[in-house]
This record gives sequence, structure tokens and C-alpha cells, in this order.
Amino acid sequence: MKYLDLSLSEVLDLLNAGKVSSVELVTECFDRINETSDLNALNSTYKDEAIKRAREIDERRKNGESVGALAGIPIVLKDNINYLGTKTTCASKFLENFVSPYSATCAERLHAADAIVIGKANMDEFAMGSSNENSAFGAVKNPVDNTRVPGGSSGGSACTVAARQCFAALGTDTGGSIREPSSFCGVVGIKPTYGRVSRYGVVAFASSLDQVGPITRTVRDNAMMLNVISGADEHDMTSSRVSVPDFTSKLEAGVKGIKIGVAKQFFTDALSGEVRNALDKAIEWYKNAGAEIVEIDLPSLVTALAVYYVISSAEAASNLARFDGVKYGRRAPEYTDIVDLYFKSRTQGFGAEVKRRIMLGNYVLSSGYYDAFYRKAKRVQKVIRNEFNEAFKLCDVLISPTTATTAFKLGEKANDCVAMYLTDIFTVPINIAGVPALSMPCGKDANGLPIGMQIIAKHFDEETIYQVANAFETAHKEDK
Ligand code: GLN
Repeated sequence: MKYLDLSLSEVLDLLNAGKVSSVELVTECFDRINETSDLNALNSTYKDEAIKRAREIDERRKNGESVGALAGIPIVLKDNINYLGTKTTCASKFLENFVSPYSATCAERLHAADAIVIGKANMDEFAMGSSNENSAFGAVKNPVDNTRVPGGSSGGSACTVAARQCFAALGTDTGGSIREPSSFCGVVGIKPTYGRVSRYGVVAFASSLDQVGPITRTVRDNAMMLNVISGADEHDMTSSRVSVPDFTSKLEAGVKGIKIGVAKQFFTDALSGEVRNALDKAIEWYKNAGAEIVEIDLPSLVTALAVYYVISSAEAASNLARFDGVKYGRRAPEYTDIVDLYFKSRTQGFGAEVKRRIMLGNYVLSSGYYDAFYRKAKRVQKVIRNEFNEAFKLCDVLISPTTATTAFKLGEKANDCVAMYLTDIFTVPINIAGVPALSMPCGKDANGLPIGMQIIAKHFDEETIYQVANAFETAHKEDK
């Protein structure tokens, strides 16, 4: 048996009992990373530093000194999260050689909890994509079937956890980038409530939608990771002051009397038969376990994808204006004047999808179109938010598929951006509403590919999500 076959929480118990050392865990991770390097999950790794830190933490533990909540656990960060002294590339040629001058708050909190960052995960460039094929450093492969995509944009984070290269990873989710790859790779990923986790030091894509969240192999591990990274941060004014509960406290509470909402707008013709069956079965299981199933109507859900592409692209165009070849990142080697410098640096530094978003964003913000697109999208966003708020008066959680199908083939949608955007049809509305949602495995299709179930709750009620998720996971352990 390998330690990496255990969950984060199991291995933490072994560490605390002195039955394994962190050095052993880190070493096992790097052996596994070498064995599975063709997955291309990681953009950089820090073996020597990780072993050194593991040794120090082992020493402190042995001496009975106090250690953090995740002491000695090897983890991975998505490559858009700054961690002092390491490269943060956003999988872009623009930032190929950019070294973090400071740590993001979420990374700092993991560091302070004595977790060991062993590397940075590959991703779609600047977190724009659903397949991880938009990386300047090559696509990531799905560890379940190497001919398929792992999902995106946190594809490397989901892949590295599913492939057992580490015990947990952080991703970011603006429209589905934690949940969709978690669904495709068969792991657990949460997009917390907007504002739950500080985004200070995380490279911005669409600031009104971006959230950081953990990807793990179990629900409990996920709650433990979220415990560490959540909470107000004076460096991020959008981080919330709402108090942070212990997310593990209701894990064993069961689902008796829990009201589970099911909205027909999540169960469209786009669903594959196998995904529909798996969800039907899961809902049936919840019913038998004592939950009450409530029918919910979310009539504006269908507009969410259009709203998302207007708002997220507008914000992306503004956020990415800072990459000009002057302050940091890539600078074109030859240019005639400052305008030419901007033009050439941006032309050479950004990939095709990023350029598409910048053009779309500047278009919807331009005078004459601002009212027709951007202002209208913001108005529809309010309608969608209200529908979710109303829904959560009738139920505790909503359950939906995370994606309409299982992982698709590498290259299958690479030249059809609308087909690619449609992958996120069930995840995007959650970011538009700002509510939390988790994706977890709920079965496999005939090819053995994981099927993902999405559990959604009202603002700041991640606790109930974990409660509902853990009940299902516990009852279906043997199916894994
Ligand atoms: N796939 C979506 C997009 O390309 C979502 C990305 C994300 O959540 N970062 O914009």
C-alpha cells in the first residue's frame, strides 16, 4: 500500500501518531510525479525545498512542539496563485519567467498551517478554458483516460490530486474551473461563496466572480482545507467578515429532513443518458436516506452563460490591461515606440483564447454597446441571484449534474469555442449568483469515466453542502 492511497485526513492521523514522517510522504509524492510525468499536470516542482521543510516539520513534531493543522501534508497550488519565490506563470508565455514577489493569502495560510507546497499545477492560460488545452505549456491529460481532457481551467490541480501526486490542491473558479475538472477527474472540488476566501495574490480573471477553493479526494479533506484558507483578509476588501465555522462539524449529521431541491432547468436534453441515470439514482438514494425532494423552478438559468461571457470578458479585458510589457512579464525584444511595445508584447505574450476574451470584453464595454451588453448582463445577473435566493427559501441545497457529459477527447472541442463554452452551462450560474457549490463523484459511465454531481447551497452555507456530500460519499465508498 502507498500512503498516497490514503486520504489527507487519514495520513494526518498517521503523521500525528508518529507512524509516518512527512519526509516519507514528500518522497512518495515525487516518485509518483516522476512515474506519471506524461500527464503534464505540474508546471513546476520544488523537491529540495519540500524535503527540507518536511524534515523541519518532522523534527518539530517529534520534539512535541506545536505544529499547524496540516503539518507535513504535501499539496499543490494552481499556477495563478503567488507563493513567495516561486514562478507564477498562469500557463502563459507572458509570465513564463515571473517570480512571485510575495505569497497570496490562501498560500500563506496553508504555509502557516505547515502544509508543504510541492509544486504549481498546469492550467488554461489565465484560467480561460474548460479543457486545459489553452496552456502555453501543453495540454494536461485526464488520469483516468489519457486520450481525454482533465477539464479546465484548474485541470492540472484536479489531475494531480486524482493521479495521487499529492493529497490536495488549490484551484480557482470563475465559471466552473474547480468543479468541471473535479467532475471529469473524479475528485471533490468546491467553489466557496464569493468572498469566503481571500483572493489577494491570486492573478485576477473576473474579479466579481473569481473564488479560490480546494480540490481533494474526499469530502472531509475538502472541508479541512477550506477551514485553513477561509476568512476575512485586510488585503482583499471583497473577502467577507462573515464568521467561519468549522466546516467538518456537520459532516456526520446525515440527511434526514434535509430539503433537496431539483430544478428541471439543470436536467435538459443536453445531458447524456448515463449522467441523467447517475443523478436520478443519487436523488433516489437521498430520498431513501430521509431527505425530502422539492421541485424548484429557476427560469432564468438558461441566460446565465450569456451573462457570464459578457461580465467575465469585460472584467478580464480590464484586468489584463496591466500586462503591457512595461511593468512585468514578457517584453517584445524589438519595438519602435511605446505603442508598438504594448502591441508586440501583447501580441506575442497572449494565446488565442485570451485575445478572444480581451476583444469580446472591450467590445461589450465600448460606448454604444455598454448599455446593450454590459449593463443588461448586470441586470439579468440580479434576476438570477433573486431566483437562487427564492429557491433557498424552499430547500437547503440544490442538486444538479456538474457537467452534461463525462470528459471529452483531447482536441474534440479545441476548434469550437462555443461548444467549449457550453461545457460550463451548469457551473456558470453558481458564480453569477455568488453562492457556493461542490462537485463530487456520483458514478461512472460505461467507459469508466467519472460522473460529477453538483451540490449548491445559499451564501455562506458550505457546511450544509459538506454534510449532504459526506452522507453520499460515506454510503458509496465501496463503489470508488
Ligand atoms: N471555462 C470557463 C471560462 O473559460 C470558466 C473558467 C474559470 O472558471 N476560470 O471562462
